[in-house]
Amino acid sequence: MNAGVEPEPIVPISALEHHLYCPRQCALVHVDGLWFDNEHTVRGTAGHARADSGADRRERGRRVLRAIPLWSESLGLSGRADVVEVGADGTLAPVEYKIGSRHGEAAHVQLCAQGLCLEEMTGHPVPVGFLWFAALRRRLRVDLDAGPRARTLAAIEEVRAWLRADRLPPPANDARCRQCQLLDHCQPELCADPDRIRAYLAEVMGCVC
Ligand code: SF4
Repeated sequence: MNAGVEPEPIVPISALEHHLYCPRQCALVHVDGLWFDNEHTVRGTAGHARADSGADRRERGRRVLRAIPLWSESLGLSGRADVVEVGADGTLAPVEYKIGSRHGEAAHVQLCAQGLCLEEMTGHPVPVGFLWFAALRRRLRVDLDAGPRARTLAAIEEVRAWLRADRLPPPANDARCRQCQLLDHCQPELCADPDRIRAYLAEVMGCVC
């Protein structure tokens, strides 16, 4: 046994979306274990619970499987798919439920990570996934091709580096913070300004740093 070597941290698929929103948010949630709900997270949790709660069923020739555990040994990745659809020809496609109508790189990367896990678990290609926007009842096809795959592999390694790090990423301190459930804990304005940190420490600890 190699006693001196730390195992590489496993990257949760959910951490990828946090990281792409704000690396500091990702580290606070997945390293420090912080979680505080706000209206956005409550709505998101309720939406995922609804997605998980239905029974597996058949829809227009597809089997719809819910709350499927996912992992990849080669990528050091684990998580869960809201839904995996099995086409009539056996093709698998992950489906990620979204409450709001916004989507972008983070949602695509999360979906792609699910597809990469499914490929490794089954040995079959997973060329597409879908985002389901519950409020709009709209489904968006996402091709899991070279671009999303490269961004996903990069994001996995970025998250793993922060999971190993002994410091927090710098605060975003921008418009993202107003939507962030960790705003009160993170104190981005204070942490972005070294002079304010020094003044704060001097005030509460009576020290000059
Ligand atoms: S408050 Fe801002 S900097 Fe802090 S974790 Fe949230 S988004 Fe990131």
